[in-house]
Amino acid sequence: MREKDCIFCKIIEGEIPSHTIYEDERFKVILDASPASKGHALILPKEHYADIYDIDEDTAACAMKLAKKLAAHMTEVLGCDGFNIVQNNHEIAGQTVFHFHMHLIPRYKEAKNADILQWSHETFSQEEMKAICESLKC
Ligand code: 5GP
Ligand code: ZN
Repeated sequence: MREKDCIFCKIIEGEIPSHTIYEDERFKVILDASPASKGHALILPKEHYADIYDIDEDTAACAMKLAKKLAAHMTEVLGCDGFNIVQNNHEIAGQTVFHFHMHLIPRYKEAKNADILQWSHETFSQEEMKAICESLKC
């Protein structure tokens, strides 16, 4: 199902050009237009899902399977030294395009932007950790 005004739906339909590295019935994988590194790619499900809350479990599982395959393939071709798989949900978490996608980010030892994904740390007391843990048990 396509969403009006969604840039990734337009890319999937071919209305907006993209560098496509992989395509099957369910997914299109394109190079990110503002890459964090050489080969930075995006896995796009062809159906429009806004985010992790919206996507169905089977499509999410298939996206991760594809990420696993592509990580191996891209690492072999690009000769990168590591790999990040990133998936942002909602604006506060850095999502800017509201069509579910997974970032495939090859990492290179010699890269100047080694801090692409670094975050500062928060501290919680042991009681707080216990309460958080209890609240999250499922
Ligand atoms: P988000 O911030 O939502 O996790 O990631 C969205 C990504 O989509 C960004 O890294 C951005 O560079 C990429 N992007 C946005 N518009 C386009 C576009 O028109 N074409 C391509 N190939 N990538 C895009
Ligand atoms: Zn869309």
